Amino acid sequence: MDQSGTRLQSADVAVKDGTIVAIGSQLPHHSIAEIDAVGNAILPGFINCHMHQTLLRGLCEDMPLMQWLEEVCFPKDRAFEPFHQHAAALMNQLEMIRAGTTTYIDIFRYPSVAALVAERSGLRSIFSPQIIDNPLGAGETLQSNIAFIEEWRDRVPGRIFTWFGPHAPYSCLPDTFIEIEKLAEKYDVGIHTHLAETLDEVNLFRRRYAKTPVQFLWDIGLLNSRLLVAHAIHLTDEDIQLLGETDVAVAYNPSSNMKLSSGVARIPELIEAGVRVGLGTDSNLSNNNLDMFEEMGIGAMLQKLSRSDAAAMPCEKILRMATIEAADCLGLADRVGSIEVGKRADLIIVDLHAPHMWPVLPEPTSNIIEQLVYSASAGDVLTTVVDGVVLMKDRIVYSLEQAEVESIVQEASLDLIKKSGLTRYLGAKQERRGTHKM
Ligand SMILES: [Zn+2]
Repeated sequence: MDQSGTRLQSADVAVKDGTIVAIGSQLPHHSIAEIDAVGNAILPGFINCHMHQTLLRGLCEDMPLMQWLEEVCFPKDRAFEPFHQHAAALMNQLEMIRAGTTTYIDIFRYPSVAALVAERSGLRSIFSPQIIDNPLGAGETLQSNIAFIEEWRDRVPGRIFTWFGPHAPYSCLPDTFIEIEKLAEKYDVGIHTHLAETLDEVNLFRRRYAKTPVQFLWDIGLLNSRLLVAHAIHLTDEDIQLLGETDVAVAYNPSSNMKLSSGVARIPELIEAGVRVGLGTDSNLSNNNLDMFEEMGIGAMLQKLSRSDAAAMPCEKILRMATIEAADCLGLADRVGSIEVGKRADLIIVDLHAPHMWPVLPEPTSNIIEQLVYSASAGDVLTTVVDGVVLMKDRIVYSLEQAEVESIVQEASLDLIKKSGLTRYLGAKQERRGTHKM
């Protein structure tokens, strides 16, 4: 995959000092390490354009979005401590390595804690600390975001990046956004936020400012190529044009949008308007996994279903939105997102020797891209490499220790549930189940 197209090839990939130096058949063998991928697929690692390294999943399901945010997410986020974030980062990063994700942008809490884990996990990571002015205490602050950038921007060059992460225009003050825009220019970093996720949000902005959320950000000077917005579902035609003209990037999160009943992003129209679109999973609370294969399949099917058009989202396009076009959304297309000489070696090997991947058809009728989009899942990733470093081989992760992560996550999760008062919901569920008449 490169900017112009996607090509399948039977080839060796040679890597030196973390960079791809040759691609071709019968490359001369001088390597100190060799990975046999014969009969399998080598892809650029997946790039997740929107996720939060949260700790909990699978509880307080089936609630309306606003109730879920107010009664579950914000109390949980207020009770969240650095040691919870440590556990969450370990869990999320271990899951991503095992699922073939090599780059992600995280928008959440205690970025220094999560970045320390990233230093160890080996993943290419962007942290956009989630600033929340209202309700205060549920997120990071402008000051903590600045402190994080100062501390981490040069610490792991080229692999760990620091951005600004104002949560959303309804949870951050306009002045915070305006200040962030100035600072982002000063530090030359990106800005990640949520935008136009729900109709409630749009209605709030129409009432308060007589504008859409997109127009609001335009008027305060935020719309430009630095900005990556998550969701962008409820847009007018003018909003779409404006995002295209200002070169804003959009993260499409189909599983989360379906699960929270937020709506369907108009991805073909956004692409038509020239908007860069990458795929994201959103958090483990609203997905509930970080499987980019699943996200590709669901993302394509959601467009097809909602538009009554089975041709609405081709396989190759959605694969590009999970790799090279996602890299473009994060300003990393010159570095990752494709297997090309000169790019960093962020590679995954996907097992094709499995019944659900058969038949594997030879060129020129090859169906490998189709199988990757609709048949494969996270568990099919055999090997994950970032910057030429092997993080997982034959499903054994080297950079993190699974048993250790599991016990840390179990302990921290129970503690967080207790401290955020969520046990009452779990108790209530038990009661409901107990009194339910069949
Ligand atoms: Zn989100």
